[in-house]
Amino acid sequence: MVDPTKLYADIDPQAISQDGPGLDSGLRDKADLGEDSYRGSGRLAGRKALITGGDSGIGAATAIAFAREGADVALSYLPEEQSDADRIRGLIEDAGRTAVLLPGDLTDRAYCADIVTQTVEALGGLDILVCNGGKQQHVEKLEDLTVEQFEETFATNVDALFLTVKAALPHLPAGSSIIATSSIQAYQPSENLVDYASTKATINTFCKGLAQQLAPRGIRVNVVAPGPIWTPLQTAGGQPTEELPEFGEQTPLGRAGQPAELAPAYVFLASGESSYVIGETLHVNGGMPTP
Ligand code: NAD
Ligand code: MG
Repeated sequence: MVDPTKLYADIDPQAISQDGPGLDSGLRDKADLGEDSYRGSGRLAGRKALITGGDSGIGAATAIAFAREGADVALSYLPEEQSDADRIRGLIEDAGRTAVLLPGDLTDRAYCADIVTQTVEALGGLDILVCNGGKQQHVEKLEDLTVEQFEETFATNVDALFLTVKAALPHLPAGSSIIATSSIQAYQPSENLVDYASTKATINTFCKGLAQQLAPRGIRVNVVAPGPIWTPLQTAGGQPTEELPEFGEQTPLGRAGQPAELAPAYVFLASGESSYVIGETLHVNGGMPTP
C-alpha cells in the first residue's frame, strides 16, 4: 500500500533553468519515469504506438509503460533532445519491443504527417496515437507576449494535434485509440500562461467533438489532464525559476506529481479495457478540483 502524501518525498523540484526544450538528464533531482517500477501485463500486446514528446517527462514514462505492456513505440521529439530519446529507445528495446526515433519540429506541418508515415512504415501500422508534445513559456504581461510565441504555442499544442490526427486517420483501424495531453491549465489558467492555458482548453474541446465523430468508426478519442508534474518543460521556461521549489505544493497532496504517475492513465485509455470510455478527460493532478 502507498501513502500518496509520502510518495516521492526524496524528489524535490529545484530552482534550475535549462535552455531550449530542456532535458530529463538536466534535472538535478531526476524525475521518476517508472524505469524501476512499471510492470507490464500484456495489456497492449502487439499494438503500434506513436507518442509525440516521447523523449522525456510524461511522454517518456508512457513510452516505457507501453513497451512493457507489449507495444512497439515510435517517438517524436526535437533534435536537441536526441540524448533523452536514445535513453528511452534503450528502455523500449530492453522490454523486447521495437523503438522508432523520429526527430523533428511539430511546428513544421509536413513533419506532423511524416511522423505518421514513418511510423506506419517502420511498425507495419499504427493503432495508438498519443499527442503529447507541448510548448509552455511563462510571460508575466500580455504586452510582453510576442505574436511569435503566441503562434508557436498554438502551432505546437493545437495545430500539430489536428495535423497529426488528420494524417493518422487513414491508417487507424477500428479499435485504435487517440489520446491528447491537456492540463489543469484548461480549467485553472495561471495569469502568466495565458497562451498555453488557452491551447489546453482548445485541446479539450477539439477532442470532445472529435470523439463523437470517430466513435462510430471504432476509434476512441480521450484526454489526460495532468496537474503540476516534475518534468524538463517546467525548468525550461514553463515556470519562473524562483517558483520551482514550491512547484506542486498547492495541490491537496502537497507535492508535484511524477511522470510515472501519469503513464497508467495513458495505458488505460490506450487499451481495450476502456472500450466504453470516449471523449473523457482523465485528471491526474493531485486532487485539484475540475469541472
Ligand atoms: P517534457 O518537456 O518532458 O515534454 C514536452 C515535449 O514536447 C518535449 O520533450 C519535446 O519533445 C516536445 N516538443 C515541444 N515542442 C516541440 C516541437 N516544436 N516539436 C517537436 N516536439 C516538441 O514535459 P512534459 O511536462 O512531460 O510535457 C508533456 C505534455 O504534458 C505537454 O503537452 C505539456 O503541456 C503537458 N503537461 C505538463 C504538465 C507538467 O506540469 N509538467 C502539466 C500539464 C500538462
Ligand atoms: Mg524532452
